[in-house]
Amino acid sequence: MPVCYIAFGSNVGNRLDHITQAIDLLKRLGKIRKISTVYTSKPWGRTDQPEFLNGVLEFETELDPIKLLNVLKEIEQACGRKPRERWGAREVDLDILLYENYILMLSFLRVPHLHLLERDFFLFPLLELNPELEHPLLGKKLKEYSHSLENHLKPFACLLPS
Ligand code: ADP
Ligand code: MG
Repeated sequence: MPVCYIAFGSNVGNRLDHITQAIDLLKRLGKIRKISTVYTSKPWGRTDQPEFLNGVLEFETELDPIKLLNVLKEIEQACGRKPRERWGAREVDLDILLYENYILMLSFLRVPHLHLLERDFFLFPLLELNPELEHPLLGKKLKEYSHSLENHLKPFACLLPS
């Protein structure tokens, strides 16, 4: 079954509740193989908002990337995400970081995620799950990019995959 990496984040309300609710809904659609440490991280893009909880999970699913994106958006809604500005506060955010070694450059879906190498809360949890991952577009190991990114993450919680 295809393997993908999904980033989760929340900075509104009971953040850990939102994240566990989203993960429970994801479990119906495939197998969660691993979940990274949940970290606190600094807001990115717009810095005038509450601190985030972020992490990444390894997911096995039959859903193709476009169906997966749609399902992630449904889960965000089901977890109470309200429409706000881009990069703004959110109850829960689910982003596809990698899907197998696919390269997708659609207007509504970029895989690998466009900001994969720029956000500490994407790159470091991803490497925690699998340090040997490669960037499909750049053809290099992801760990080679970790030296040029500052890590501001602080461990907050551990979640079990099952
Ligand atoms: P953010 O960029 O902060 O995650 P949103 O969650 O509001 O902002 O996402 C905006 C749009 O980004 C989504 O509607 C989606 O179509 C698009 N998008 C492009 N690539 C991806 C990806 N790899 N994972 C999730 N959404 C993506
Ligand atoms: Mg998103």
